[in-house]
Amino acid sequence: MSLVSPWRSDFPALAILEAQGQTYLDSAATAQKPQALIDALTGYYTCGTANVHRAQHQAAERATRAFENSRIKVAHWLNAQSPTEIVFTHGATEALNLLAYGLEHRVRPDDEIVVSALEHHANLLPWQQLARRRGARLVVLPLDEQGLIDLDAAARLIGPRTRLLAVSQLSNVLGAWQPLAQLLPLAKAQGALTVVDGAQGVVHGRHDMQALACDFYVLSSHKLYGPEGVGALYGRGESLLELHHWQFGGEMVRVADFQSAEFHAAPLGFEAGTPPIGAVIGLGATLDYLAKLDGAAVTAHEQVLHMKLLAGLAVRPSVQVLGKPQVALASFRVEGVHHGDLAHLLTEQGIAIRSGTHCAQPLMKSLGVDGAIRVSLGLYNDGTDLERFFAALDQSLELLR
Ligand code: PMP
Repeated sequence: MSLVSPWRSDFPALAILEAQGQTYLDSAATAQKPQALIDALTGYYTCGTANVHRAQHQAAERATRAFENSRIKVAHWLNAQSPTEIVFTHGATEALNLLAYGLEHRVRPDDEIVVSALEHHANLLPWQQLARRRGARLVVLPLDEQGLIDLDAAARLIGPRTRLLAVSQLSNVLGAWQPLAQLLPLAKAQGALTVVDGAQGVVHGRHDMQALACDFYVLSSHKLYGPEGVGALYGRGESLLELHHWQFGGEMVRVADFQSAEFHAAPLGFEAGTPPIGAVIGLGATLDYLAKLDGAAVTAHEQVLHMKLLAGLAVRPSVQVLGKPQVALASFRVEGVHHGDLAHLLTEQGIAIRSGTHCAQPLMKSLGVDGAIRVSLGLYNDGTDLERFFAALDQSLELLR
């Protein structure tokens, strides 16, 4: 019997894609959107848009209230201590760049910035470029055979010169939870600030910022079933005080003169210009929707899908899964078959997967591969999707061999 997702009908795109013969298995790239989000966006744009934090008129007050409510919802979702610890950005990438510029003053020549070998380019290149600007060194933590950051190596490599540690909670390629509870204290003990890229981790379960004890945590709305164009940066109250302003313009400034200006503290001081108001409101509505679901049931559903996916891959000869994925995601290769050719045939059969280096070229190089196919599932996927995928995989492999 097929495993059915009770939430599938909350996502209207799934039925439309299905009618077009498409099986959506690319949620780690971006997730489909629930009706609750679509309704919120329609409501906001239909009832009169307005800029936030600026005007007194009714529509502006309504927009500001809804916008700030979303900040409260994100803070609540992450168990932040206060909504003022949440800065809205245009995505996880922008939040990481914000940090790399905002913390630049803390990095001096010969200091070290520590990342891991599994980072997405979004959590590698901003730090690499910061290191280059400041004459600092980028130190890369190696992985063990499970695809986890090697803690023994980390204990050796994180030292008195470490100013920043920036690591992913969950790799977008390997899908394994990183040992942050052991890793972050190593950096803390050296007085370094810690940054967690939660773009993938935030999608799978709720994470408590007070328990995680990082200085900064970055998330992306569009992977969490919310709209594109918005992300959030969580910063612990005292850690936010370390940030220097990085983008300048309207609404982030308290007093401005021709030659000088005084800026707001976080969050407004880091939200220069008109923010993505509709998207922020939409993210709030998405979190409301997700908060109403039975989180344990969602996790259990995704775990069953995950086991089916791994079991199906394991019985097919010559299929090699990268690492040991723990969430409903798997990147794999097939011996003797180019991932691009396989992806082409799967795509022709309506299977929406992604192939290539997944914005993690150094990881691929360190694994000794030139790319992989990634299947990634959301809470709306069900057993039929996997059956279609495996049927298409078998047919493709038959053609290619
Ligand atoms: N980090 C990771 C681990 C990701 O998977 C992604 C998105 N692919 C990002 C960062 C960047 O997120 P955004 O699309 O919001 O910029």
